[in-house]
Amino acid sequence: RRTYSLDVSPELVRNQAYIDGRWTSAAADFPVLDPASGALIARVADCGPAEAKQAVDAAYKAFHTWKQQTAKERSDLLRRWYELMVKHKDELARIVTFECGKPLPEALGEVGYSAGFLEWYSEEARRCYGDVVPSPFRDRKILLLKQPVGVASIITPWNFPSAMITRKVGAALAAGCTVVVKPAEDTPLSALALAQLADQAGIPAGVFNVVPCSREKTPAVGEVLCTDPLVAKVSFTGSTATGKILLRHAADTVKKVSMELGGNAPFIVFNSADVDKAVAGAMGSKFRNTGQTCVCSNRFLVQSGVHDAFVEKLAVAMDAQLRMGHGAEPGVTQGPLINARAAEKVVHQVEDAVSRGARVLRGGKRGEGSYMEPTLLTGVTTEMLCTKEETFGPLLPVIRSGPITALQESP
Ligand code: ADP
Repeated sequence: RRTYSLDVSPELVRNQAYIDGRWTSAAADFPVLDPASGALIARVADCGPAEAKQAVDAAYKAFHTWKQQTAKERSDLLRRWYELMVKHKDELARIVTFECGKPLPEALGEVGYSAGFLEWYSEEARRCYGDVVPSPFRDRKILLLKQPVGVASIITPWNFPSAMITRKVGAALAAGCTVVVKPAEDTPLSALALAQLADQAGIPAGVFNVVPCSREKTPAVGEVLCTDPLVAKVSFTGSTATGKILLRHAADTVKKVSMELGGNAPFIVFNSADVDKAVAGAMGSKFRNTGQTCVCSNRFLVQSGVHDAFVEKLAVAMDAQLRMGHGAEPGVTQGPLINARAAEKVVHQVEDAVSRGARVLRGGKRGEGSYMEPTLLTGVTTEMLCTKEETFGPLLPVIRSGPITALQESP
């Protein structure tokens, strides 16, 4: 197996937290690994509650001046940040590939998507319009003003390590809020590279803060970010289980919250479907980012009239189109999963399905490290874990469905 090295200018590979416009060390650090090889990419400051509090205080202090900036000033800064992302897109994409495993073309796609949020919000920054509403009284007018809420805590997942940050931060900064970002423990480097570019763009100290931390420190850091009275808003993308914890934390000080949590998306193929189109759709929706996106289809319900043709063509498409390997290798479409735990979860679902009578048509086994073979299962029933739990991996379970009796029998 070939080895690949990150090969990005050191200025973009930061290993300290970014708090109040300064690169800041913590008492300890934690390793960031290439999930494809297990190789160490960097050791990054392992922030605890103290650093989280420091970042919240800095963001609160900066809020008082950031909210006073004109719309044009905020817009110009976001635009400059966007332009720097575009200038460094290839390096940012390599960082995404090396820390989260996705193939380079997908990583480049993510960086374009990610930069696009800064571009769009730099334009929207100028359009925080209010409204004048007719009043029930002759001598009064109702004015609606949009005002920034304050400090936003932003907790993001590893599957889009760049885009999930700019999507939230672009909006917050455009509105005049300041932010503290806690990136996922597997992928802090994309967040820190964004901080480097924010710094270069001239985003003022304290407006954008990044506090990376290990899995061990995450609960304590998360608690500070979601309970501190100086925080006004929590925005989270991640698992439903974690979302529930954060909602509980945020309840005592009644913060504003936005939660984007897990799913169990069905992919339904009716007898009337164009099977080739259905197969193309299934390939795209199941195997992007090796099955690790929140909109990946999780269970496939295929009516019996097209079941066999669908399964057969799907297996052919999987053989022809999917290639597993390091994301930096040309032609690879299936990188590793984010870590060994993620691969174990998929294997567990496969074993559960097989023990209940499912058939493995393709794949089914773990590869080296955190690789998992693209897997096609048939004979799947709704009793099996893979139809009940979000898989977040390259497992495609097909449930053969009969006629839609309920609909047919309804009067
Ligand atoms: P996944 O299982 O996909 O990794 P998580 O919900 O665990 O999803 O991760 C999404 C984000 O939530 C990551 O940044 C992770 O570090 C963070 N996170 C996980 N547990 C907590 C917690 N108790 N408090 C705050 N953040 C958390």
